[in-house]
Amino acid sequence: MKANCWMGRGSVEVREVPDPRILNGHDAVVRVTSTAICGSDLHLYDGFIPTMKKGDILGHEFMGEVVEVGPRVRNLHVGDRVVVPFPIACGRCAACALGLYSVCENSNPNAGLAERFLGHSPAGAFGYSHMLGGYPGGQAEYARVPFADVGPIKIEDGLADEQVLFLSDILPAGWMGAEMCDIKPGDVVAVWGAGPVGQFAVAGAYLMGAEQVVCIDRFAYRLRIAERAGATTLDYEEVDVRDALLDLTAGRGPDACIDAVGMEAHYANPALYAYDRTKQATRLETDRPYALREAVMSCRNGGIVAVIGLYAGFLDKFPMGAVMNRSLTLKAGQCHVQRYLKPLLARIREGDIDPSFVITHRLPLDEAPRGYQLFRDKQDECNKVVLTP
Ligand SMILES: [Zn+2]
Ligand SMILES: [Zn+2]
Repeated sequence: MKANCWMGRGSVEVREVPDPRILNGHDAVVRVTSTAICGSDLHLYDGFIPTMKKGDILGHEFMGEVVEVGPRVRNLHVGDRVVVPFPIACGRCAACALGLYSVCENSNPNAGLAERFLGHSPAGAFGYSHMLGGYPGGQAEYARVPFADVGPIKIEDGLADEQVLFLSDILPAGWMGAEMCDIKPGDVVAVWGAGPVGQFAVAGAYLMGAEQVVCIDRFAYRLRIAERAGATTLDYEEVDVRDALLDLTAGRGPDACIDAVGMEAHYANPALYAYDRTKQATRLETDRPYALREAVMSCRNGGIVAVIGLYAGFLDKFPMGAVMNRSLTLKAGQCHVQRYLKPLLARIREGDIDPSFVITHRLPLDEAPRGYQLFRDKQDECNKVVLTP
C-alpha cells in the first residue's frame, strides 16, 4: 500500500510499504477513506518530537471502512464505516475505567521510553513516535487499529467524511479545552491559537454558555474564521494581548484561558523570541511557552488555565508565582477522545456544529508532502488539509 512516511526533519514522502495485518484478536484493519494533517504532525515534521525513525508512517486523524476484524472484535463488522480516535486505549485498565483514555495503561508497548521523558507513560497513539508505541499512522491506504472493540465509532447515517473525520482528534480536543474551563454564564474565555483546535474551542465555549470568547493569533485568515464563530479577535503582533484582555474584562482578566498553541509558539517580542528559540535549538529547553506564559499572566485571579496545545518536555521561565499566589487552576491533557465520540457525533447530527468549516485544502494522499509544506508555512491561507488515499 501507499503511506506517507516521516523521512527526517522537514521531509515526508509517500512510499510503498507492506499492507497492515491483524496482529491481535482485538485488531481491525481499516481502508482509509479520509485522513488529515494535524498541527501535532507539524511538531514531528519540524523535528521536535524525540524517538521518530526514518520511514515511520504518519497520521492520527483518519476514518474509513473496516475490511478485516480480529476474532475478539464483536462490535464491528467488515463493511462498517468508522472514525478512529487518535489515542489507542484498551477500555479495561484503571485509567480507561476513569474515562482517561489518552493515558491508558495498556496500549503503549514502549512505556519505558516515555517514562524517561515524562515520568509515567501516556497511551499509545497512531503515527506519533516510538515513545508513544511506534504505531503506524493513518495517512495511508490502510491502517491497523488496535483495540478496535473500544475506540472506533460507527457512522451509520449519511454524514459525509468531512463532517465526522475530526471526531478523531481536533473537535473533541477543542471541546475538552472548553470543558476544562468550567464555564458559567457570563464568563469570558480567551483562546490562544486560532488554528482548527482553537477554532473548535471557541465553538465549544459558546455552546457551553460563555458570554464572550476572545481568540488570539497573528494570521488574519485564521482570525477571520474565529470571528465567524463569534469570537472577538486579537492580533498579537498588533496589540499587547494582556492589556487588551484587561480592557475587555473591566481590568480583571478572562475567567478562563485556553492554550491551543503549545510548544512551537511565536512571539511578537523579538528579544524574548530569540531567547527561547536559542534555548530550544541548543536543547536547553524543548518547548517555547509564550502562549502559556501570557495565558497565566492574563487570567483573572482564581481563574482556570487549560492547556490543550502540545508540549513535549521542559520549558523555561514558567510563572509559577502567578499560579500559586493568584489561586489559578492549571488543567491540561491530551484529549480523551473516546469519551466525546458519542455526544459530539450527536451534536453533529443535530446540526449544532459542522466541523467541516475548518477545511481549506483537499489533496490526494500522493500530495501529502505539499500538504505538509502548505500547512506548516501557512501558504495559500492553509487552515486544515484533508488527504484522500
Ligand atoms: Zn491531531
Ligand atoms: Zn486502558
